Amino acid sequence: MTMKQHIVKILSIKHIAHDVLQVITEKPENYNFTPGQATHIAINNPDWKDKANPFTFTSIPEDDFLEFSIKIYPEHKGLTNEMLKLHKADELILHNVFGAISYKGEGVFIAGGAGVTPFISILRDLHKKNEIGNNILIFANKKKVDIMLEKEFTDLLGENFINILSDEKTEGYPNGQITEDFLKAYVTETTKHVYVCGPPPMMEAIEKQLSNLHVSKTAITVEAF
Ligand SMILES: Cc1cc2nc3c(=O)[nH]c(=O)nc-3n(C[C@H](O)[C@H](O)[C@H](O)COP(=O)(O)OP(=O)(O)OC[C@H]3O[C@@H](n4cnc5c(N)ncnc54)[C@H](O)[C@@H]3O)c2cc1C
Repeated sequence: MTMKQHIVKILSIKHIAHDVLQVITEKPENYNFTPGQATHIAINNPDWKDKANPFTFTSIPEDDFLEFSIKIYPEHKGLTNEMLKLHKADELILHNVFGAISYKGEGVFIAGGAGVTPFISILRDLHKKNEIGNNILIFANKKKVDIMLEKEFTDLLGENFINILSDEKTEGYPNGQITEDFLKAYVTETTKHVYVCGPPPMMEAIEKQLSNLHVSKTAITVEAF
């Protein structure tokens, strides 16, 4: 299968956390996605055009631009580090739209670090439709400075926005890893939907915890980052 490529210009690029870039680009014509989906992105220059990695749309489908929220790993010296050099009017190459996570109904979203990106689009979309309801977001990060869009999530979800920090003790924020005990305050046998996105070790641990809490497998939607 040949992958269709779309060349788009960057309209704006800025940090939204110390290691997260928000990149806004043009939107190709007839390029549609549902909240939670992603595409492979490469940088349109001779050295980098063939190195495409997956990133999630954090805009909503009605927007006439595309937005991405990209965690940068300078130490990998790879694609995300290279993105630090990008400016307005530079070009990216986008590929096909794909993705495993989509909204199926009210429930609990559990994210680790950049794993929150599918939930950004889903929650913004629900807010736009006035359907945020009683959805809960549990967001695990290392430190408070790592929490992306903390203010927006607080505004969207109020008390249903739950943070947990593994590497920092800060007043008002639970400290540690997500455990079964932590989860059971938010997830019960009657929870209809649980959405989990984060690094593979976290996903494995949480799937086990959910099973111990008698959440049925069919209620769980996952995507590994
Ligand atoms: C469906 C999907 C959607 C995604 N959406 C997003 C998103 O919206 N936002 C986001 O920030 N991320 C997202 N990710 C994750 C994102 O794709 C990766 O974090 C990113 O591509 C990593 O790029 P890199 O800079 O490490 O570059 P790469 O060029 O991939 O890696 C450079 C080098 O680093 C090495 N390396 C890789 N991992 C490690 C590691 N853990 N430790 C040490 N060295 C390592 C590699 O071997 C390689 O040689 C998504 C992932 C998936 C699967």
